[in-house]
Amino acid sequence: MRTSSIADKVVVITGASSGLGESTARLLAANGAKVVLGARRKDRIDAVVKEITAKGGSALGFKTDVTKRVEVEALVKGATEKHGRIDVIVNNSGIMPIAPMAALKVDEWDRMIDVNIKGLLYGVAAVLPVMQKQKQGHIINIASVAGFKVFAPGGVVYSATKSAVRALTEGLRMEVKADNIRCTIISPGAVATELTESSSEEAIRKNLREFYKIAIPPDSIARAIAYAIEQPAEVEIDEVVIRPTAQEY
Ligand code: NDP
Repeated sequence: MRTSSIADKVVVITGASSGLGESTARLLAANGAKVVLGARRKDRIDAVVKEITAKGGSALGFKTDVTKRVEVEALVKGATEKHGRIDVIVNNSGIMPIAPMAALKVDEWDRMIDVNIKGLLYGVAAVLPVMQKQKQGHIINIASVAGFKVFAPGGVVYSATKSAVRALTEGLRMEVKADNIRCTIISPGAVATELTESSSEEAIRKNLREFYKIAIPPDSIARAIAYAIEQPAEVEIDEVVIRPTAQEY
């Protein structure tokens, strides 16, 4: 299937080595987008690129740690050097090493802030000058239902990072509309990915696995991202919340 408004769009995706990012890369590429993918696990990125190109799609991969601004800049530069423009960035990289505050996992708090907030901001910083020059673009940031409701006990810092993503994206939207740049927040509920394994506490991983029995496949989020992208240029989908039907939180 080819959707004309997705075909030929140049789409940069961070965290494309697994989960939502990988699924989104496959779906958009199948619809004719030129995807440019980054994450730390280059072997996984290479495998996704290989599969997409074997099916006749366009994909390019980079080893990108979003906590390193230069690497995010290199990812975006790689996209513009190859394709001459960037239509969309999906700032998707994220981690969720949850634990109670009293466990004082300060290193994990730092990492969540570095990846979920600062990494996303580096993505914004890298594409903004390009999109402003183009007078068009679309910045899609992955938040969470945890950005609406505090996820406690355990997910307090994670929730704080995702609330920050929502605030940043809404503020960015107000600032860049004059440049014809669209901004979209995607806030998923439980999605079956590797995210639940990022807690360093076995008991929490076990609870999450139980909670995630209702989780929906990553493709459901990829379809929402594709829907936001394929809207006519004058239509901006600002925020989408997608949960499993059975999920209360
Ligand atoms: P995954 O763990 O499958 O994917 C996370 C991705 O982030 C991986 O590709 C990982 O790649 C990447 N990543 C982590 N750290 C870095 C880093 N320092 N630099 C670059 N990339 C990094 O989980 P999901 O697909 O579920 O997560 C994607 C997004 O969706 C996250 O922002 C998450 O918070 C959000 N989300 C997920 C929900 C869920 O239930 N699954 C619910 C709500 C939101 P690598 O390790 O190779 O670098």
